[in-house]
Amino acid sequence: MLHCFYCSSRSWLRLPDPHPDRSLTTSCILVNESLGKSQCADCGLVQRTAHPFLGLGDFYQRQYAPYYERLGVEEFNAERYRQLAEWVGELAGLAARPAASVLEIGCGRGWTLEALRAQFPDLTLAGVEPSLDNSTIAREQGFEVLTGTLQQVLPQIDRRFDVLFSNHVLQHTVDPVQFLADHLPLLAEDGLVVLSMQDASSPSNELLFSDQNFSLTPAHLAGFGRRAGLEPIAVLPAPPERAGLYLSMLAVFKRAAPAPRPEAPVPDEASRKALFDSRQHYLSQWAALDAGLQERAAGAVRLVNFGAGMFSSLLAAYAPKCWARVEACVVDGQGGQFSGLQVYPSMDALPAGETPAVVMGVRPWIQPALSARLAGQGYRCIRWDDLVST
Ligand SMILES: [Zn+2]
Repeated sequence: MLHCFYCSSRSWLRLPDPHPDRSLTTSCILVNESLGKSQCADCGLVQRTAHPFLGLGDFYQRQYAPYYERLGVEEFNAERYRQLAEWVGELAGLAARPAASVLEIGCGRGWTLEALRAQFPDLTLAGVEPSLDNSTIAREQGFEVLTGTLQQVLPQIDRRFDVLFSNHVLQHTVDPVQFLADHLPLLAEDGLVVLSMQDASSPSNELLFSDQNFSLTPAHLAGFGRRAGLEPIAVLPAPPERAGLYLSMLAVFKRAAPAPRPEAPVPDEASRKALFDSRQHYLSQWAALDAGLQERAAGAVRLVNFGAGMFSSLLAAYAPKCWARVEACVVDGQGGQFSGLQVYPSMDALPAGETPAVVMGVRPWIQPALSARLAGQGYRCIRWDDLVST
């Protein structure tokens, strides 16, 4: 049995799988393996335990381009990356050091680098990215980008950076302490390590992806940093006014003074138990979603899905029987293909016929507003924000 990467325990509490033999990755690729996650009985860390980590193969090298190719994703993400760059700039004090050097680890196609360049034009920006396609495209945007994982490119980098930044990377790594320790040779003496990712303090969609090997609470994130030789300065949830970063947290670390590394703290038993119960409840809700949606769609002659993003992919993966009845998708102002279905730019653009019922293929917390709009136009909406908690 695999050990816990945080506390080395081999005692696991298995979490429910939303589907017995399939799961979704964050690049929207279906994998024919269950989600396979467990919570460590001794420290509360969620880790993928039933299958090997996808990052041990060439998943990120070869299968991460689709993340950036989803319909309308660039428009959807532009505001999120703008807010992220602003927040990173604030916590790393970039306004006070406009010529700082920043290395983004896992820079994808360079969207955060672009947002940083727009706000802080004098920064020296560079990136590291494992995907062959994504790193090529980031270079075409004018950024210096090395192709590979941090560990692979480390010997090629002979300078230090003021800020080492990564967004949604640590939970994908195959060894978080090693990943963070690999930052130290690249970090200027007074440099900062800044990481953003989803906060796993309460269960949410971050649990649902098979390429995320870990779910990190602020305590686990700070503890991993300490074990790697970094001292946490701040671990903060996204402020509500930065709505694009809903459920995110951002951590800032500096180099720790050379000293025996402290034991990483472990959350108390009551809070571990509460987290396990809420995670188990959340994943059980996803496991029951297909049946709930089929019940709500009963009697509908035609079924369309509104959306073509991450939550539509989650429905296609974890509610396959309901999804099999969906004949097309609709996304405001977008046309194209999604999951083998035609995407229409408006409800009016759908082929003529019976008025369809509309499945809400969007984030639970925006379903009330979207369904109110579509119901106002006379459509029967199939919501599920009451079946799955946020
Ligand atoms: Zn543990």
